[in-house]
Amino acid sequence: MHTRDYQALDRAHYLHPFTDFKALGEEGSRIIEHAEGVYIHDSEGNRILDGMAGLWCVNLGYGREELVAAATEQMRQLPYYNSFFKTAHPPAVKLAETLCRLAPAHVNHVFFTGSGSEANDTVLRMVRRYWALKGQPDKQWVIGRKNAYHGSTVAGVSLGGMAPMHAQGGPLVPKIAHVRQPYWFGEGRSGEGRSGEGRTAGQDPEAFGRECAAALEAKIQELGEENVAAFIAEPVQGAGGAIIPPESYWPAVKAVLAKYDILLVVDEVICGFGRLGEWFGSVHYGLEPDLMPIAKGLSSGYLPIGGVLVGDRVAETLIEEGGEFFHGFTYSGHPVCAAVAQRNLELLEAEGLVDRVRDEIGPYLASRWKALEAHPLVGEARSLGLIGALELVDPATGERFAESRGVGTLCRDLCFAGGLVMRSVGDTMIISPPLVISRDEIDELIDKARAALDATLARLAE
Ligand code: PLP
Repeated sequence: MHTRDYQALDRAHYLHPFTDFKALGEEGSRIIEHAEGVYIHDSEGNRILDGMAGLWCVNLGYGREELVAAATEQMRQLPYYNSFFKTAHPPAVKLAETLCRLAPAHVNHVFFTGSGSEANDTVLRMVRRYWALKGQPDKQWVIGRKNAYHGSTVAGVSLGGMAPMHAQGGPLVPKIAHVRQPYWFGEGRSGEGRSGEGRTAGQDPEAFGRECAAALEAKIQELGEENVAAFIAEPVQGAGGAIIPPESYWPAVKAVLAKYDILLVVDEVICGFGRLGEWFGSVHYGLEPDLMPIAKGLSSGYLPIGGVLVGDRVAETLIEEGGEFFHGFTYSGHPVCAAVAQRNLELLEAEGLVDRVRDEIGPYLASRWKALEAHPLVGEARSLGLIGALELVDPATGERFAESRGVGTLCRDLCFAGGLVMRSVGDTMIISPPLVISRDEIDELIDKARAALDATLARLAE
């Protein structure tokens, strides 16, 4: 079959996630056929540097035979069995032990799921159950953040704060509230951002970070502290726009949660497994979460697997006081997925890839990335570890474009055409490359990003 055949079948039968099918146009989907290292190859013979590691997940890079071998071996040995009703199997048990060894010291248990969305569904049920067991059944409200993404199941959408998602397929899960995000460039420095919060002029980033934590406290007081079960957030907000909070933010949030005895859920689906240069983003920010949803980099995306890392406080209550938790998925701890995840973690560890992000390749990316701020289209170039964003601005004013101009989408398409995957979130361009990316490949990424910015500028001038 040729590209056109795939495209015709695709158009006829395949409803893609997050795709406006009517707007697909004559061109059709780009058909990706194979990949190795940090490159994907399409059916037209183009080799494209994957600056997004798929969907923020292929941490180990593509084409690792060790993971193929782990899957093959496990599929022969035991392709499937569950872990319900007092059964277990070696791959899931080993993976549980490995995860708890890599996690912060107070985390000693894991509940497996098939994805990050299922992990966040599990979180919602677990925190409400925890407080019910503690004799505080009214503690049911969970506070998330506007513009956050926590998955596409009903609970994931409800915990997340994406307005276009909330507008479709409702009603949402009750008793979930949202507070502003610590998005300095979009909402602190320069006017109204994607969460629709007003401008906060005349502050520095650190004051803004504290203001965002104060908004959380105000929301807790509004709902009544006796009614609030948990706060959920990513260390660095990924799909919202690679939003790196001001340094003041997390310490201030921690203090608020401690004051009102509210559980902290840190969504590690993107930041976990090395993205910020630590095994978990929580470690970078000195957080001790009660629950940590994980997925993506856990298996480097080779097979679907997720989970919730459970801190001692919650785990002890669930185990000692809870009895049976009526919750689980057919594929919780799937043996083949678990075996691949285990091998993936072993390789990340043996090759020192997490430390390399913190000590070598992350700082290298930061220095090259920051230089893009000199480009007239770029208002800010920020990065931490191997996650980064460019804020596109109108060169005439230095301020953000009106949302309707679609400059980010234009830049994304020009990027792809030029051989680089960058994602656009509004007019914010995002990168999150595989952790194995080399210095030369980072240089190539920067050159291609600059070329796409130039091409975007030229198109705007037409
Ligand atoms: N949480 C975060 C922070 C995510 O970025 C995602 C997916 O992008 C999810 C949860 C949902 O994970 P999944 O797509 O595996 O359901």
